Amino acid sequence: MTGTIIGIDLGTTNSVVAIMEPDGPRLIPNALGQMLTPSVVGVDLEGNVVVGQVAMDLMVTHPERCTSQFKRRMGSEWTVTLGDRSFTPEELSGLVLRSVKQDAEADLGRPITRAVITVPAYFNDPQRKSTIHAGQIAGLTVERILNEPTAAALAYGLKDPGGDQVLLVFDLGGGTFDVSVVDVMDGAIEVKASAGEGFLGGEDFTRSIAARLLERRGLAFEHVEISAPRQVSRLLQQCELAKRALTKRDSTEVRVPNREGQLDLDPAASVEIVTRDEFKKWTEHLMARIEVPIRRALGDAHLKRTDIQEVILVGGATRMPRVIERVNDLFGKVPSCTINPDEVVALGAAVQAGLIGREATLDDLVVTDVAPFSLGIHISKAFGSEQRRGYFLPVIDRNTTIPVSRVQTVTTIGSNQTEIKVEIYQGEGRRVEDNLLIGEFTVAGIPRGPAGQPIEVRFTYDLNGVLEVEATVAATQRTFTHVVTRHSRGLTPDAIARAVEAMKILKTRPREEAVNRYLLQRAERIFGEIGADARTTLGEMLDGFEESLEIGDVEAIERHREALAAYLDILDSSTGDEQGGGGDGTW
Ligand code: AMP
Repeated sequence: MTGTIIGIDLGTTNSVVAIMEPDGPRLIPNALGQMLTPSVVGVDLEGNVVVGQVAMDLMVTHPERCTSQFKRRMGSEWTVTLGDRSFTPEELSGLVLRSVKQDAEADLGRPITRAVITVPAYFNDPQRKSTIHAGQIAGLTVERILNEPTAAALAYGLKDPGGDQVLLVFDLGGGTFDVSVVDVMDGAIEVKASAGEGFLGGEDFTRSIAARLLERRGLAFEHVEISAPRQVSRLLQQCELAKRALTKRDSTEVRVPNREGQLDLDPAASVEIVTRDEFKKWTEHLMARIEVPIRRALGDAHLKRTDIQEVILVGGATRMPRVIERVNDLFGKVPSCTINPDEVVALGAAVQAGLIGREATLDDLVVTDVAPFSLGIHISKAFGSEQRRGYFLPVIDRNTTIPVSRVQTVTTIGSNQTEIKVEIYQGEGRRVEDNLLIGEFTVAGIPRGPAGQPIEVRFTYDLNGVLEVEATVAATQRTFTHVVTRHSRGLTPDAIARAVEAMKILKTRPREEAVNRYLLQRAERIFGEIGADARTTLGEMLDGFEESLEIGDVEAIERHREALAAYLDILDSSTGDEQGGGGDGTW
């Protein structure tokens, strides 16, 4: 297969696309000229699907028409209704992937059909398969699913090829936390161990602030989330700004919106002060969870904290001074972030894409990765004459180098037993109830006979971290393959084909219109935050811009757009809004 392969960091909060070029990996900007595309999807009032910044702004005014953080739902049965259509997590991720694919096509001037997509190292099997299917829905062949910390190590390894050292990649993104211990020597990048937490990220820190501010008003976050979603949506946006401000300052103000999600025009009525110390106290429980995966990854790599020569920070949430401080305390050294933590994963994905595309510059680079969790099956154990169910038999131990193929032999436990059910689990618990069921299938046609008929179960874990399981009845040599996964709804080839067709008929706007939509959404958001005088001016400018769009006068559109954008910048700076991080190299 030929054609350029792009590298995509499909993030919980933002997605980033990059490509390998002769002098190194390069980020590709979106239609708005930004390197980070928010992983947000919405359906606007006219029924058009919008993605990225436009959807993010729509979310503030119409949260019921938008969704974010669906990466946390990959591999699950969850769906969401936006406008009059329901979407699966794979379709939502597919829309984000399609959007960055189109950005790459516009930048490179040719169609793109192949990609490397990154996932958290701790993503389980259904989540990885879902990601591959999201790529297919977006019209991409997924050449490799790459672990995010491995991608980061690749970007750093390429930057400093002479180095011979043990790195710890500390990856705290919007929704997930991963730690990998990586050995870099002479162009070989070897992941020794990975560990993580699927539900810990920057968004949890933001929600902690929101929950405490509502608590100050005698309200419970969970209740308000359901009864007043607009209030929560706007409050989260304000708390996100506060969290970022606390990266630079000792205290900050948060404007708490009313139940309709509007900010009081008199700031004194709604402002709450949050100090860095309070933020620290409110998030202590989250910080405590960070140490468990670090301990586990170091233990599996048979290393001590003092063996780590460099700690690499990845993910936007590592900008929090609290995180940097804790890393410093744990490892006794200042962590390294010479590559922007928002961009390093996409850059590494582009390097992996270059490796697959056999870019000459990468000739000497070799990467090996591991399976971050144990994989195995459900068995019964004999205690005297009694068989007790519920035990986990690992077939592939966690942190085994991949690709790997391993066999375990199990036996029938009853006489004349002709069938067994192979239940596949992932996890570290001794009992299956503590682990995650990721698939099951039945092996039939076992010849009748006494108990103890052997069945060989083979687990093959490929470079994408995707698992295949086969069971062979020793007596007949008949083989059964794992085809049914527990979370397989929406993931069969038929369902993917249907999703691809459904995607084609979704109403979207031309890519060029994104800039105009973005401006209109942004203006609408800011409109709700400013005083009467500014509203009159902004209203007039919006009328002029909308009229020029209606008429389709290209020159007038350009003129109004520039004036409006400049005015919004002024308003944004006076309402204390700041983008924080992202894309301009000034993080
Ligand atoms: P990622 O998934 O890597 O894009 O990380 C996104 C997360 O980083 C979000 O939860 C952001 O709130 C967080 N983040 C980005 N910039 C900052 C900042 N300056 N201070 C604190 N958190 C940030």
